[in-house]
Amino acid sequence: MQCLQHPVEKLRSVLFSARKDLIQAYEQYSEEEKRFLEEGLLPGSALFTAIIIHSESDWIPAHPQPPQDFQSFYSNPYRKTPDPGHKTIYIQTIGPFGDGTGITEQYVKWLKEYCEAFYYSLAVKFLPAVTIAATSCTFRVNSNTNNLQLHAGDLLAFLKKKKPKDAFCIVGITMIDLYPKDSWNFVFGQASLSEGMGVFSFARYDDDFYRRNYAGQLKKNVKLKPGDYSVFQDCYTPPINSTLLLRSCKTVTHEIGHIFGIQHCQWLQCVMQGSNHLEESDRRPLDLCPICLRKLQSAIGFKIADRYKALLQWIADGSSDKPTEAFQDFRKWLYECLSILGDKTV
Ligand SMILES: [Zn+2]
Ligand SMILES: [Zn+2]
Repeated sequence: MQCLQHPVEKLRSVLFSARKDLIQAYEQYSEEEKRFLEEGLLPGSALFTAIIIHSESDWIPAHPQPPQDFQSFYSNPYRKTPDPGHKTIYIQTIGPFGDGTGITEQYVKWLKEYCEAFYYSLAVKFLPAVTIAATSCTFRVNSNTNNLQLHAGDLLAFLKKKKPKDAFCIVGITMIDLYPKDSWNFVFGQASLSEGMGVFSFARYDDDFYRRNYAGQLKKNVKLKPGDYSVFQDCYTPPINSTLLLRSCKTVTHEIGHIFGIQHCQWLQCVMQGSNHLEESDRRPLDLCPICLRKLQSAIGFKIADRYKALLQWIADGSSDKPTEAFQDFRKWLYECLSILGDKTV
């Protein structure tokens, strides 16, 4: 294990930047917001802690690259920023979700509402759900795990055609596993940042996925015919529970973060940290570190406390059977953030 502890002076320069206009822009934050962001960089902060590298297979040692400070994010001419004509995030569900008891619609609605709170002040809308057949995508059976997989590039081509004119981005989600090309085993998701779109699978977020008797394995004698999508009609999808909801919320917000131009975080523990495997993804927190928060805030323009309150409201919303057990630590964390921000309304 290795603790990636950056000196406080370094983190401060990464947050403020060296550009005069960006330092001036920082001064626009309220005194409470500045105190909150800066206290978060201190080694003793209870809210934001150093990244711990557990093994050489973690993202940072496996993918060495320069970290992205606020200034390099802000100065990137290719990053995408919502504007009045493009400020809607569209979610496209692809194929079966859940067990048909109605929880599916609930689940994607919870996910949508979570994105609305996370990307506070942007609109998040659904496109009408589509079947796998409607996408005309190529599919296969994975020879190692014996489960169905969809070709991620074909799904991106489909999403490109479906992307509405006023979209900031379009995100496809599916419960079927994905592969990027024949020689690859699988992929959690694939995105085109320049096109503002991505597609992600939650199949491997099922705790049983890697068990030998995983229910999503195809029977040995099933023969697939290209273009015959009937195999997807009764195919297995993971049960919807609190852990699956948490993992899905984390993935979707992480991936949309990339569409904003936020690269993998190497500063502090953060939802924008890269992850090579599910265990590393589970280790990441649900929210942004102060540096990535400034990146998002500069792109959207919200009051920091308002966004935390919206996330808190999402967890507290008792109008449905939303399984929020896995979000309780996050709930406490949000309260602590709001208390440092001097917010007394919650
Ligand atoms: Zn990523
Ligand atoms: Zn970060």
